[in-house]
Amino acid sequence: MQSLRNMFPYQPTWSNTRINLLQRCSRAFVLRYGLAQISSNHPQGQLLSEAFRIQTPWILMHQTIRDVVLDYVEDYTNGTVWSQGLIRVRFKKDYTRAILGRNKIIESLQNYDLDSSFFQITYPEDHLIKMGVEICINILQHKVMLELLSDGSIERKEPTNSIVKQKVRLYCSPDLIHHGKNGTTLVKLHLYGRLSAYERINQASLLQLYGNADSTVIQFTLERRKWYIHKTKPVAKQVKQALDLVHQDIKHMETSFSNVNKNNDLTKVPLADTYRSCMHCNVRFMCPSRHGYENAKAEQLTLMCE
Ligand code: SF4
Repeated sequence: MQSLRNMFPYQPTWSNTRINLLQRCSRAFVLRYGLAQISSNHPQGQLLSEAFRIQTPWILMHQTIRDVVLDYVEDYTNGTVWSQGLIRVRFKKDYTRAILGRNKIIESLQNYDLDSSFFQITYPEDHLIKMGVEICINILQHKVMLELLSDGSIERKEPTNSIVKQKVRLYCSPDLIHHGKNGTTLVKLHLYGRLSAYERINQASLLQLYGNADSTVIQFTLERRKWYIHKTKPVAKQVKQALDLVHQDIKHMETSFSNVNKNNDLTKVPLADTYRSCMHCNVRFMCPSRHGYENAKAEQLTLMCE
């Protein structure tokens, strides 16, 4: 493995995924964005990277919803309107491919001598397909989406679209950018439940950086299979507050990296605060908490107090 120095990214990088993982567990964050990256040529580093690529069928269903909706919009703007039957066929095909891709990664992990109970091969479940199709149709028939489709032009964005602001590379791209008679609108599909008003305005403020100070942000939030819509036009003060938070997050990320000493020792990197966070953790097979969360936590506290 390379040295700790290389763990600090050349350019500080912020994304929702990074900060969410850091908030769930510092150790998982350091494993994913620190050790997995610097040790990509080492079998353990490869194992880490592969393990983090495995998503639950539930997450894959939500990712498929996003892809199908964005494909629909892209085709719509090119003059092809899908029927509901085609939405069903596309969802089923894409979701099945995602599950098979997941199974393939799990099979490749057999080379690493892992306990097979950590990851299970699975098959596309009909009720998830049905739910996913219904959620896609609901958003595509929503009057706000129909208004966007009926006027101006729409550009699709990928999550890998980043921007640099105040020396930080930010990955917080909208899913769609609409240019219409009322100016630019940045559209985000938030698929994983309710955001507090505070989180929502912070997310909207960062999204607006992909447009201009007059851009409107529309957030479609999926909660219990229902879409909720929020339209916002963040003001300069809110954008500044959101960027201040990003800088605070970056400091926390660097503190977590610096907890790994020069021997890449993870003992001083905190475990998750509750066992609940470990339940679906992709790397619990290489974490002391697998032998008993309470004991591992107590042992770590002793180490940290030394
Ligand atoms: S198993 Fe728990 S403590 Fe260990 S890395 Fe995962 S979330 Fe963190």
